Amino acid sequence: MIPETSKSRTVEAPNLEADDTDLDRRWSLIRAALTISRPLGAVSAVFALSALAGYFGSIETLYRPIADGPATNPLTAMTFLFLGSGVALGRGRYSIWLQRILGGAGLVLTTTVLLDASIGTDISKTFMLFQDRVLQDLAQGKSNGMGINSAFFLLLASLALTLNSLHKIYFAQAAAFLAGGIPMISLAGYAYGFEQFYGQMSLVTATAGVALSVATLSMTAHHGALKAVLSPYIGGSIARVQVFLGIIVPFIVGFLIIKTLVNSGEGDFLGIYVVAISWFIIVLVCASAVVQEKVDSKRRIAEKKLLFVAMNDPLTLLPNRRKFFEVGEREIARRKRTGADLSVLMIDIDHFKKVNDTAGHAMGDHILHNLAKVLADSLRAIDLAGRLGGEEFAVLLPDTSSAGAQRVAEKIRTNIEAMPIEEWTDIYGPITVSIGCAVADQNSGLTEILSAADDALYKAKEQGRNRVAVSE
Ligand code: GH3
Ligand code: MG
Ligand code: MG
Repeated sequence: MIPETSKSRTVEAPNLEADDTDLDRRWSLIRAALTISRPLGAVSAVFALSALAGYFGSIETLYRPIADGPATNPLTAMTFLFLGSGVALGRGRYSIWLQRILGGAGLVLTTTVLLDASIGTDISKTFMLFQDRVLQDLAQGKSNGMGINSAFFLLLASLALTLNSLHKIYFAQAAAFLAGGIPMISLAGYAYGFEQFYGQMSLVTATAGVALSVATLSMTAHHGALKAVLSPYIGGSIARVQVFLGIIVPFIVGFLIIKTLVNSGEGDFLGIYVVAISWFIIVLVCASAVVQEKVDSKRRIAEKKLLFVAMNDPLTLLPNRRKFFEVGEREIARRKRTGADLSVLMIDIDHFKKVNDTAGHAMGDHILHNLAKVLADSLRAIDLAGRLGGEEFAVLLPDTSSAGAQRVAEKIRTNIEAMPIEEWTDIYGPITVSIGCAVADQNSGLTEILSAADDALYKAKEQGRNRVAVSE
């Protein structure tokens, strides 16, 4: 196999301006992030449905997992349902519209809750399902309301979904990122045993909140900071390690310190400090990853361009002599290991001087360009065609016997003969080529096989051109 030839076969310049076109297989982390987004959205929608089912069927544990602990309010569950389904819808044309509507609904719900909390109005009750149940809970002295932290979280998540559906990906990512901080703080609160951290946010809401923020965040994985952190290149690898350590180390250290200080009453401060520090580190790491990824991406593009220029012929875009020999030698070595067949063709245009002399050098170039295309289209992806110089081409045919090579050569010859060139073939007749074939024996190197094919080519010329000859 010669993977490098798959590109040369179509004789089209690869896209040299970008190094992440279609997020090829190296960008697997980004593709994975984009893939998990929808299922995670669905998970948070299912969580919301189960909480709503708890209200519907009077099963309190479904919306209040810890007895007498915080509950998932019906409004919270509804907003989760909207946003989770919005993310789960994916990226179709109609999905985008539904996402705008669902995100908008989330924005309305959460702003009314925040409005009620700040100026003492009671508007959010208008939207609340299962109000009786909530009032009953409150009458029994249990908590049940969308807390400020849940409201802020859902507001930011609604904003992320809406912005994403409006193609404001960077802002969507920033909103999703900020949103994620809130359930993380709650979870830290549960882990450290600090009620202030989670307040009215139930453990289930916090967990589903993490799922929802990861879902909204990964919708934007192909852009901005997330792309930089998930990049398969060095900047990405460094950033991932830093993000991981930036979360884990302060959390563990904080946990240990808090556990020793918890009785002295100074734990609260440290808890907030620990969370703030980890988010600060993440922001720093993301910022440096963005810069590094930008610089590195430019370098990779430049490198790719240089490599293409160094290895391909500018007129036909076929591999040049250097690349042909480099890939060819590798193929010879492989063949020596496996003992597989290997054939070589040498192709030379007949009376090409006449083209230049009659119609000018530009016509000659035009013919060379078109001929290379016909040549490449006559080959399999694993074959290697190269322009060795002037109007001489060579083809390496792995796993091909002498008879197979003659068939390929004949196909190339007839395809080229049938190739129409405006203002040449219509006036002077077809362009023809002579082809020499040689098959490698066990010990031959690339130069020897090429020289045998060249001898056969000479024979084809001698026998009258426009034909295929085989080396003895
Ligand atoms: P033959 O049938 O014996 O091969 O005759 P020929 O005229 O093709 O002879 P030869 O192969 O020796 O000629 C090569 C000619 O190809 C010489 C040169 O004018 C022309 N040529 C080589 N490279 C290029 C190129 O890049 N562009 C153009 N337009 N012509 C080229
Ligand atoms: Mg020649
Ligand atoms: Mg020639």
